Amino acid sequence: MAIIITIDGWSACGKSTLAKQLAKKLGYLYIDSGAMYRAITLYFLRNHVDWTEAKEVKQALKNVTIEFNFNDKTQQSEIYLNGENVEYVIRDLVIAEKVSDVAAIKEVRKFAVARQQKLGEKKGIVMDGRDIGTTVFPKAELKIFMVADGPVRVERRFKELFEKNPNVTIEEIKTNLEMRDYIDSHREVSPLRKADDAIELDNTHLTEKEQFDFALQLVRKVLKRPE
Ligand code: C5P
Repeated sequence: MAIIITIDGWSACGKSTLAKQLAKKLGYLYIDSGAMYRAITLYFLRNHVDWTEAKEVKQALKNVTIEFNFNDKTQQSEIYLNGENVEYVIRDLVIAEKVSDVAAIKEVRKFAVARQQKLGEKKGIVMDGRDIGTTVFPKAELKIFMVADGPVRVERRFKELFEKNPNVTIEEIKTNLEMRDYIDSHREVSPLRKADDAIELDNTHLTEKEQFDFALQLVRKVLKRPE
């Protein structure tokens, strides 16, 4: 039996690390839903779309195609915006600064959620994000909600971004994470919240291996359950 696993939680909690590990172990598809909102933001910025205008947003989304393709070299699925691999460029802080505003727009969410649901039609998928267990796949067989202490998250994200851009500061990262968490959890449409049936995983003091083992146990329990 193939199942749907959703991993939601605060920014920079290690959701994608866990999601990738689980997908690899189970031979499932991994989809980073945040990458979709980042790619849409990149498109809006490049094309000077005024996203405060619903009409403009609707029109612009007609020109956006998003695909995920598996890269044999990196062994990861990577995101393509209108045929261009944007996996790297969407991780920039410039995108992180605008993405939560874009992701709060109703039309944008409708567009992204429809694609996410399509990708999960055949199950056998691990998807991470903010509203995957609540809105995208409310009937998912396993829902994990990840949390970690603020300073730990800032440190982890800083290390990640510093490798790419040594000019980035801890303060910038902290401000960005706090801002995104605030907007993501206070927006009107599909705000970030733990689904009632999600299992909380606090990885503040866990290694990647410990968190993976914990999640894998949860998967095994679900797979043993009679259908
Ligand atoms: O996961 P990541 O941090 O890359 O997501 C970037 C942003 O995309 C989040 O801060 C949030 O604003 C938005 N997002 C969302 N719903 C999702 C995934 C991401 O609103 N399911």
